Amino acid sequence: MRSVSVFGATGSVGESAFDLLMRAGGSEAYHTVALTGGRNVARLAEMARALRAKIAVISDEALLGALRDALAGSDVQAAAGESAIDEAAQRPSDWTLSAIVGSAGLTPGLRVVQRGGTLALANKESLVAAGPLLMAQSRRHGATILPVDSEHSALFQCLDQDNVDRVEHVTITASGGAFRDWPLDRLHSATVEQASSHPNWAMGQRITIDSASMFNKALEVIEAHEFFALDNDRIRVLVHPESIIHAMVTYADGATLAHLGPPDMRHAIGYALHWPDRAPLPVAPLDLAALGQLTFRAPDEVRWPALRLAREVIAQGGAAGAVFNAAKEQALDDFIAGRIRFTDMAPAVEHALDRGAGRPHFGTSPAELDAVLAWDQAARRDVAAWIAERGQVE
Ligand code: NDP
Ligand code: MG
Repeated sequence: MRSVSVFGATGSVGESAFDLLMRAGGSEAYHTVALTGGRNVARLAEMARALRAKIAVISDEALLGALRDALAGSDVQAAAGESAIDEAAQRPSDWTLSAIVGSAGLTPGLRVVQRGGTLALANKESLVAAGPLLMAQSRRHGATILPVDSEHSALFQCLDQDNVDRVEHVTITASGGAFRDWPLDRLHSATVEQASSHPNWAMGQRITIDSASMFNKALEVIEAHEFFALDNDRIRVLVHPESIIHAMVTYADGATLAHLGPPDMRHAIGYALHWPDRAPLPVAPLDLAALGQLTFRAPDEVRWPALRLAREVIAQGGAAGAVFNAAKEQALDDFIAGRIRFTDMAPAVEHALDRGAGRPHFGTSPAELDAVLAWDQAARRDVAAWIAERGQVE
């Protein structure tokens, strides 16, 4: 029986993975080693009981008692805290999904590759903040990383592994998010609620707001650069409001292979779960006649400065990814808390990148986790200082 672990089980990606595992037979088909959550004790306990997990870990230590109570009478072990998540990631499992949101996903993902495991990676932040470290550790320990972000899963599926050097460029699509049709001068007054609704995908709140600001696509451009070792000029972004084509690979002979499917994360998660097989998945088949047409637009860097910043991060290399990721997370926290406007997020991140570039060793890729975390903390402080200097938004 295959063993699996899911980090971030209580989130949007985690729920989709749980659905796939249950439909595939649950504890009859898979041995679940570890499931983790952030604060949602009730749902974590429910999932752990259903899959008969060996251990359930909640990241908030104050919730250990509540988790123990919720698991009373079951065989599932309860644990809490960052170090317990770290320990759970070191437990052997054949397949591990990294679906924690944000930089908290970095350490568990790294532990999985360091034990030579198979890491299904939804947490794009790990590749943005620490791509060279994660990829080097993966090679060193003979690990396998399978992309779960839908565009990268699509690229992975379109890439003819024998002809990677014949790739002319790749294209990842973007829906354009909640504000793609808003007049530019309205963007500065966009509220958290408005930014939290996605036209096509049902996802966690943070990635949904990142889709509206295009920071999500910016992260994905960097993710493609790190994972597929492609330079800026070989990664293109195309706005495709219907979210049916997820990515395309254009070869030197002029052929372009595209990956199409309905916007349902269970495809990308299920593909990674069954790889290299293609097992049946509960994803509705595509009905192109019903859709009628697919449309495309060039990305607008005035509307979405995050895309320009992503290009600069790739050109700079070194610690720029760690700074970009952390500054973006901090700016997003500040937008959600009402401390800055929607349109302040990109200038806040740009400020942190400028400050980072002035510090020693910015040009060197962090080779250790501690170095990544130090750049992360400095970037968050730089964003906070930028906001404090400007005062509250009225
Ligand atoms: P959600 O916000 O829905 O879920 C996040 C998960 O992480 C939850 O299980 C949450 O726990 C847990 N969590 C939050 N903070 C911490 C922490 N500090 N330590 C440990 N666990 C924590 O996010 P999504 O599922 O939308 O996204 C997960 C990842 O997948 C992100 O990296 C995202 O970019 C990526 N991704 C998501 C897609 C999607 O369709 N949603 C598509 C492609 C990529 P709890 O809820 O219990 O507090
Ligand atoms: Mg994506």
